[in-house]
Amino acid sequence: MNAPRFSRRWFMKAALMASGAFIATPLGRARAAALEGTTVVIVGAGLSGLAAANSLKKQGATVIVVEARDRIGGRLYTDWSMGPPFEVGAGWIHGPSQENPSKQLADAVGSEYVVTEDDNLVVFDLDGEEISEEDLEDINDDWESALTHIDSELELNDRRSLARALKDLRPSALSDPGVYWALSAYTEFSKGAPIEDVSAVLHDDDDVFDLPDVVVTTGYDEILKPLADGLDIRLSSPVSAIQYGDDGVTVSTAQGAIEGDYCICSVPLGVLKAGSIAFDPPLPDDHQDNIDKLGFGSVTKLALKFEEPFWDIETQYFGIMTEPKGRWNYWLNYRTFSDENILLGLSVGAYSPIADKMTDEEMTEDALEVLRNVWEDDVGTPTQVLATHWATDPYSFGAYSYPTAGSRKSTANDLADPIEDRLFLCGEHTIFDFSATTHGAYMTGIQAAELLAEEAE
Ligand SMILES: Cc1cc2nc3c(=O)[nH]c(=O)nc-3n(C[C@H](O)[C@H](O)[C@H](O)COP(=O)(O)OP(=O)(O)OC[C@H]3O[C@@H](n4cnc5c(N)ncnc54)[C@H](O)[C@@H]3O)c2cc1C
Repeated sequence: MNAPRFSRRWFMKAALMASGAFIATPLGRARAAALEGTTVVIVGAGLSGLAAANSLKKQGATVIVVEARDRIGGRLYTDWSMGPPFEVGAGWIHGPSQENPSKQLADAVGSEYVVTEDDNLVVFDLDGEEISEEDLEDINDDWESALTHIDSELELNDRRSLARALKDLRPSALSDPGVYWALSAYTEFSKGAPIEDVSAVLHDDDDVFDLPDVVVTTGYDEILKPLADGLDIRLSSPVSAIQYGDDGVTVSTAQGAIEGDYCICSVPLGVLKAGSIAFDPPLPDDHQDNIDKLGFGSVTKLALKFEEPFWDIETQYFGIMTEPKGRWNYWLNYRTFSDENILLGLSVGAYSPIADKMTDEEMTEDALEVLRNVWEDDVGTPTQVLATHWATDPYSFGAYSYPTAGSRKSTANDLADPIEDRLFLCGEHTIFDFSATTHGAYMTGIQAAELLAEEAE
């Protein structure tokens, strides 16, 4: 059923995306009072849901936000218990140019930043030996050249995964331990998924803003505060059902049912895939197919705090070649932007869901084994540990969305098509170009609010 794609709504959505109107003015767009008398129930108080809620409230709507957790923010949440910020979900503003809405939001709350330097990196081989700068340069060049080669060889309709395409077209990339490490530490981390599952043609086809990535040393989740200010947010209210039709919507939560004229559902793709929310009527086939087809992977973060550093405190990142692929293969050194002796380890690709299922103790032991392969007996006992388990989190079931082999850009984008003029999905998974980012999530919230306002007119 392709018809809705060519409807008036479709053209409006396309025009909205093309205009970039929602990018230019975070917190800004408001048609005051246009939605007075309209009640909107928003499911999920992450960045996308809060962006939609804030925009609709400014336009006069009565907005009720229902959130399963006992906090707002979803996959944007800063834990301060170690001293410096530990970003449980999003850690970087990717491409912090002035056009990036996340940067605009962060500037608006007076955030402070540190640029992370991707090339301030030391890498260790499978034996724990540091590799030379020249060898690292070769690895980076070979990784880039393998991906460029794939890009130039494949047609847009190619249905192979990245690993499959490499096997067919550049098998050396998979047999060279250095390039294999880079495919995991760079590509699998950025896509939040194994190269065996990510689309070869689409893995690098999304859009980016300019400038090197930054971490927000004053806490990334501060950007939520102005959006959430003054909203009616009902925490600890997991939604189990959304009924929608000509008469409006009924959203069933653990705290009772809420009625409204429209519903915006911003829950993560993992929650939609798990079927935790019963839609009545069921979601249209096109939407359900896209939910099934789009990928949702995980990324595991483990922060280990030590009394003393046993690593070079000037180096920003450590790469460690590990087996299996994806196991604690990339580390951020907090000493490059804080006084605390913290190493933040990352597990990615197929290993992340394995790590997510470990207890914090098992995960720590697993990661320490990797560190000991490099720093041997110098590795101390951590004095504090913070671990994430996104794949098993019932309000996310993963970290972020990715294009699977065989999916298209429209697999994500069409999820934002309004359903029966009553129900709107938003969230990072509904925008191909900026998926898996905070700015993408924000844009989809604004887009859902705009589409709803058009419907309500
Ligand atoms: C480990 C990790 C690292 C990341 N790194 C980066 C990064 O460096 N830079 C970047 O830009 N982005 C990064 N991201 C992605 C970014 O965090 C997300 O794209 C963005 O925060 C998603 O916002 P959202 O509103 O779409 O979803 P969410 O923030 O997940 O919001 C959805 C909300 O719905 C709630 N919910 C779920 N189920 C129910 C239910 N049944 N009833 C009611 N509420 C429910 C959830 O609790 C949540 O609050 C990262 C994400 C993760 C997990």
